[in-house]
Amino acid sequence: MTKKIKSAEYVREVVPALKCPICGSTMQVVDLKSLLCMNRHTFDFAKQGYINMSAHSIKSNYGKGLFEARHSIIMESGLYDGMHETIAKMILRHLDVSNPLMVADLGCGEGSHLQRIIDECQCSGMTGVGLDLSKEGIVLAAKRYEDPIWIVGDLARSPLESQSFDVILNILSPSNYKEFKRILTPDGLVIKVVPGPDYLKELRESLFHQNENKVIYRNDKTVTLFKKHFQLLDSIPLRYSRKLAKAELNHLGQMTPLAWNGDKARLDEFMNQDSAEITVDLEILFGTKKNEIDPNTLGKWR
Ligand SMILES: [Zn+2]
Repeated sequence: MTKKIKSAEYVREVVPALKCPICGSTMQVVDLKSLLCMNRHTFDFAKQGYINMSAHSIKSNYGKGLFEARHSIIMESGLYDGMHETIAKMILRHLDVSNPLMVADLGCGEGSHLQRIIDECQCSGMTGVGLDLSKEGIVLAAKRYEDPIWIVGDLARSPLESQSFDVILNILSPSNYKEFKRILTPDGLVIKVVPGPDYLKELRESLFHQNENKVIYRNDKTVTLFKKHFQLLDSIPLRYSRKLAKAELNHLGQMTPLAWNGDKARLDEFMNQDSAEITVDLEILFGTKKNEIDPNTLGKWR
């Protein structure tokens, strides 16, 4: 069976979770090769097994090299293992995993975090959907990881149906809280990972002079905004360091947007060290929808 057919069959099982990004109507899989909406807008499955549901294509700095480096760091160096384990534990604690669960990673890049978290949960009824605007990222995700559904798409013109996802992952990536709330099920869990003050500090310190430390991560505003939109269930700080070898430091230097603003010679120096301790400092926010007042219930008291 080709990847394209396998992916079309898989999408067919969860197609109510998708909607047309152009007109918003429901979709169906036709001939195991396209998604078709009621107004006949069509999106074809690519041979690598992903679907492009983006209305326009974008060019970004996030090229293939960056996503390959990200894959190596996430899957091989173990730098983010602590984060994956914490997220999986919280999913298992808060949701009934004996039921089928839909998990969306919004801004999934090349998909490695989503794949790792699903592996860590070990639930047979879990379906992952990875969405990213970058086609380069999604192509790599579809090539490497068969099970999740990979979609090139824009959250601002979302291909995801309302109240269809039990878990929303948003890992070190921009948020669209209005959309998160719309697509989350009433009891669903939104998980946002933000960098703490010491996140990859060794890399930042070598890229910038101490006094012009251009990127300082501060979480307070992010946490306040998150709490405005969601009921904060938990906020878990995660801080540890890992020793990375030369090849891994090289990948780290290539995968982060931090490096784009830094000094090239300093970046080379960082990547050519034999090894270095690297700090991971993250804050993981877990939220649910706030209990909004149901107008039907309200009527009783009038
Ligand atoms: Zn349509």
